[in-house]
Amino acid sequence: MRKSLIAGCLASLFTGSFSFGQELYVPRDVKKAYENETRSESGKPGKNYWQNSAKYKIDLQVNPPSRTVKGSEEIIYTNNSPNTLNSLNFKLILNNHKPGAARLGQASEDYMTNGIEIDSYSENGTKKEWNSKNDGTNKMIKLDTPLQPGESVSLSIDWHFDVSKQSGREGAILENTFFLAYFYPRVAVYDDYMGWDTMTFFGMQEFYNDFNDYEISVNVPEDFIVWSTGDLLNAEEVLQKKYAKKLEKSMQSDEVIRIATPEDLQKKEITQDGNNTWKWKVSNITDVAIAISNEYNWDAASVVVDSTSNRRVSVQAAYDNVSEDFHEMVNYGQHALNWFSHHYPGIAYPYSKSTLVRGHGDMEYPMMVNDNSHGEPELARFVAEHEIAHTYFPFYMGTNETRFGFMDEGWATTLEHLIGIEDLGEENAIESFKGFRVQRWISDDNMEQDVPIITPSNILSGPVYRNNSYGKAALGYLALKDMLGDELFKKALQGYMDRWNGKHPIPWDFFYSINDISGKDLNWFWDSWYFEPNHIDFEIKKVTQNDNSVEVLVANIGGMPAPFDVKLTFADGSSKNIHQKSTIWENAEDEFSIQIKTDKEVEAVTLEGGIWMDATPENNTWKK
Ligand SMILES: [Zn+2]
Repeated sequence: MRKSLIAGCLASLFTGSFSFGQELYVPRDVKKAYENETRSESGKPGKNYWQNSAKYKIDLQVNPPSRTVKGSEEIIYTNNSPNTLNSLNFKLILNNHKPGAARLGQASEDYMTNGIEIDSYSENGTKKEWNSKNDGTNKMIKLDTPLQPGESVSLSIDWHFDVSKQSGREGAILENTFFLAYFYPRVAVYDDYMGWDTMTFFGMQEFYNDFNDYEISVNVPEDFIVWSTGDLLNAEEVLQKKYAKKLEKSMQSDEVIRIATPEDLQKKEITQDGNNTWKWKVSNITDVAIAISNEYNWDAASVVVDSTSNRRVSVQAAYDNVSEDFHEMVNYGQHALNWFSHHYPGIAYPYSKSTLVRGHGDMEYPMMVNDNSHGEPELARFVAEHEIAHTYFPFYMGTNETRFGFMDEGWATTLEHLIGIEDLGEENAIESFKGFRVQRWISDDNMEQDVPIITPSNILSGPVYRNNSYGKAALGYLALKDMLGDELFKKALQGYMDRWNGKHPIPWDFFYSINDISGKDLNWFWDSWYFEPNHIDFEIKKVTQNDNSVEVLVANIGGMPAPFDVKLTFADGSSKNIHQKSTIWENAEDEFSIQIKTDKEVEAVTLEGGIWMDATPENNTWKK
């Protein structure tokens, strides 16, 4: 660490130009992106930045309780890269259900299916062979005609798959209630620094998707209601008038409207007669998910997310009547959308709707959430808030969550804590965050826990993946907020989001953007928090009482530049808290001497980190 500090100073001496004191580790593929000017060292997208995109027209036929889903899609995929593409890589995530699939964990018999079976495939109208037998979660198909820069290819695919009996992120929740995710063959991301995303899906990774346009239609039997990502185009065609009216009314209503109650479901007069084809449309979005049921309640209301334009967003919930917490879910959703839009990140919710579905996923999708039912209302609200926070990261921001989980789970965890302070009060929110997000990491001295956060998430598993992506990363973002102050932190965060929303930022785009927008060289902080095998551990080495001051010598044993309070207890029984921001560690890596003015006699000194829990709190107190 010291070595690179000196190297950085020497570099600026020789070039005579402004250079950051400390260089961050930059992998070779990212350096190449700087050379190609697709990205830049200011953190802005480079002048040659590009990304590919596609238009999907997807038709599904679902006929519960049969778990077989038939799909057909037309894809127009456009190559915006400067390279000729000889092949296309398809993502077939549901092949993780195949018996021989590579998986991180044990899978039950109820999880097994035959995966996605391709019935027909054509390129620019020409049929081609596609044998699904040995397909994994990626399938590279050589194109008959290479796809030149700026050109598009049109693809037609028919497929079928069985919804898994076991419901998690997707699957059959009840006999007649399905949650569909990853349900269509999707062209993988081809990006400017790694090329094709060929990462195998092991059951844990989440999203890395292009921004696409979707038209979706789902054909279901009478009485089935369908919820999906996107705007419902034909409510009056699929719903009976009374119910279409209720849905329409909810779009302007703060109050929750019970569109379909158990009584309504019993009467079977909600949908139009016969099979219905529900249709949606949505643009510039990274994925779609769908829920189908003839036994779920349906609630809806809306909430203003933009006070200037008064734009309202629909909030809907679909759930079985026994899930008590879901009766309140629309209220939780309204609260989350309102708070995230107006406070942190302080950007109006970017979509027209959020639908919360009772399933078993605790999993976010664009405009959709698949959550478990939780006995405790506070826990139900907490999980809903976390999943809705993902709207911004990874969906609005298009981050590669499969590789850099901390760019998305870390922010969802940060936002979850900030809204938690509003919900629970600061003290309770801190205790809850410590227990849920920090304790298991900081109390575990296994070396795996020290693996730096920047390590690609796809090569991690278990607690290390979780701690690196969620708690450790969020503590860094919250330390940044503490260090910059609310105003500058928000300006820098929103500036980064403004630069990169709808694109594919990587960690260096984030770090350099925050440096650039805040006008501060924070590489020392990024390096210690995100690139080094550090943890939080301070120790009081020495306390010296002088006439008008007290000097507290603190050693940073763990290496993370976390903030903390110094609590002085005086002989007269009074006490005083002095906050120390991360900044104290900018130039003092190992030890820092804190000078505090006081005439009083000090009896005891304690370092208190709050959410920034210390690995060995026993050496954080000095007593006279
Ligand atoms: Zn999450």
